[in-house]
Amino acid sequence: MSQATAPPPPTADSPEEVPAAPEPQGEERLVDHLVIGAGFAGLCAAIKLHEAGERDVVVVEKGSDVGGTWRDNTYPGAACDVPSQLYSFSFAPNPDWSASFSPQPEIQAYIQKTARASGVLGGFVFDTLVEAAAWDDERARWVVRTTGPGGGSTTYAARTLTSGAGGLSEPKLPDIEGLDDFGGEVFHSSRWRHDVDLAGRRVAVIGTGASSIQIVPSIQPEVAHLDVYQRTAPWVIPRNDRRYGRLEKAALQRVPGLQQAYRKAIYWGRESYVPAFTWKPKIAWPAKQAALLNIRKGISDPALRAAVTPDFELGCKRVLISNAYYPALDAGNTDLVTDGIARVTPTGIVTADGTERPVDVIIVATGFFTTELPITERLTGRSGRTLAEQWVETGMSAYKGSTVADFPNLFFLVGPNTGLGHSSMVFMIESQVAYLVDAVRTMRDHAYDAVEVRPEVERAWSADLQERMQQTVWHTGGCASWYLDQHGNNTTLWPRSTFTFRAQTRAFDVAAYRVRGAADAPTSTPASSPTSTPTSTPTSREAATTA
Ligand SMILES: Cc1cc2nc3c(=O)[nH]c(=O)nc-3n(C[C@H](O)[C@H](O)[C@H](O)COP(=O)(O)OP(=O)(O)OC[C@H]3O[C@@H](n4cnc5c(N)ncnc54)[C@H](O)[C@@H]3O)c2cc1C
Repeated sequence: MSQATAPPPPTADSPEEVPAAPEPQGEERLVDHLVIGAGFAGLCAAIKLHEAGERDVVVVEKGSDVGGTWRDNTYPGAACDVPSQLYSFSFAPNPDWSASFSPQPEIQAYIQKTARASGVLGGFVFDTLVEAAAWDDERARWVVRTTGPGGGSTTYAARTLTSGAGGLSEPKLPDIEGLDDFGGEVFHSSRWRHDVDLAGRRVAVIGTGASSIQIVPSIQPEVAHLDVYQRTAPWVIPRNDRRYGRLEKAALQRVPGLQQAYRKAIYWGRESYVPAFTWKPKIAWPAKQAALLNIRKGISDPALRAAVTPDFELGCKRVLISNAYYPALDAGNTDLVTDGIARVTPTGIVTADGTERPVDVIIVATGFFTTELPITERLTGRSGRTLAEQWVETGMSAYKGSTVADFPNLFFLVGPNTGLGHSSMVFMIESQVAYLVDAVRTMRDHAYDAVEVRPEVERAWSADLQERMQQTVWHTGGCASWYLDQHGNNTTLWPRSTFTFRAQTRAFDVAAYRVRGAADAPTSTPASSPTSTPTSTPTSREAATTA
């Protein structure tokens, strides 16, 4: 065991030369914990840190409200595709969901209500962008520069920095020639223009992903004509949505344990998809048959049926749910366009075969930046490189989706390899927040100023994940998806059961970290060998008892 001291001696991966911390701009505020983003993740972190006795928590949010995804995605038909009983915080059950898949306004109202009831909103700073954050090694603090309303700048010096900046937060616009010069309105699905009336107009929707299949049936009845531009046909299974009746709602409010039982049943039902995704795609045969039946029931035209039938394994791309999408494509005023888009003119869209289709409004539903998280350009680590620069070489990688070597005291929520194709991201967020809170508790209890994951531990973790990926449907299923990065690695999804992730993140495994703190701090255990599995490292509690 080596003694933890402050600061640590330089090692191969802690260079002697450390960059100067950024100059504070405006006033500097010392805070214990700074969280970026007020979506499900940032809110959960604030609540759980408070519950753990950490009261000096600031959440910086560039939008003007909590909600993140659910504040921004207000398009017609927006709803969750994991049942709300599961897609909600375990500690804030809501007996008032109107249906199994709640619409966006209800989810946003739920997040707002939970935030108000938690009493943590006093620490939230809205309409304020985190411009840049750099690790100041001398002070063992993150120096975070923000710009608030009116351009006012505040600099925070925080002991820990948590990124809840979102995995699907920054809209990704397609690089299509002429899009900027289009004469009508163009907007991204997550920045819906409610001032644009679609009734009686010619509308194009580009993309056939999760947002598009909710938008298309919602707007098809009112528009004059709808062109849906499809690059790859998705698998779409029936939605099986159900409104909760008055009796059922009353029972959910009054019968002890009933909501919990619903939640558990949904959880295990969803978890049963995991073997098909991560091991044997053939197990998904029943779901595939349901999807094929969905096509046959929804579409009468054989050519259209063929055009929407995917040519890859179910699960390789995100599996979508809808009963209304195929009938909307089959409607008389809708055309599915499968030719690639060549360019946009001021009045229409031209496809590769030279056909120009006139259009008044273009809705871009092409998704988000997923494998190059934009927040990483704003984070500068101990050796002066941004995380974006680090990850451009290696691809995204973080130990337990949370921590990165060279970035001490930085915790990601919804970080690399924490995404799911089948279940609730809120479950993953709560798991990661438990890890964060136990790390903070460990730092407090042992007077550690800084914890930094050992590079070899992080590498072993990522290598293990990528090895597991090889047999998943995301690699073998015969599709190119947004799950994969430019190196062909799947750095977005978690390739195991979610209960395994929960177990991995239950406690902070301090032995996987280099720590530094007061001279009388308890000793830390030596580095794990590069070949040892990260899961074998003792937890903080074990380390504390052996220290
Ligand atoms: C349309 C849609 C439907 C979805 N449906 C489901 C579903 O049914 N089930 C499911 O599990 N998941 C779903 N997801 C995924 C969803 O994103 C996550 O479930 C969850 O909402 C992520 O929460 P978050 O807090 O991590 O991120 P977000 O909700 O994206 O919040 C991130 C916040 O960080 C803020 N931020 C970012 N950068 C900065 C900065 N530099 N400075 C200040 N603030 C910043 C953003 O403004 C935003 O408010 C869906 C996603 C979309 C887009």
